[in-house]
Amino acid sequence: MPLYEYLCDSCDIKFEMLRPMSRVTEDAPCPDCSQMSPRVLSVFASFSIGGSGEVTPLAGGGGCLGCGPGGCACGRSV
Ligand SMILES: [Zn+2]
Repeated sequence: MPLYEYLCDSCDIKFEMLRPMSRVTEDAPCPDCSQMSPRVLSVFASFSIGGSGEVTPLAGGGGCLGCGPGGCACGRSV
């Protein structure tokens, strides 16, 4: 089950919650105040600072940006 991040406006905290894919678009209740909070988009993409100072995606160069390093669910080799 995917882990999603939510942001509570009232408490100004982020919290994570496991949710089924079918409910990914739904808000989640804050663990502190139970207010329904919108999901925030987590940044899963990994970046590295190259020798030139450029920030380049690790999975760049034709790779898949949707999957993490070490494994690509889209079938490309990383
Ligand atoms: Zn809250």
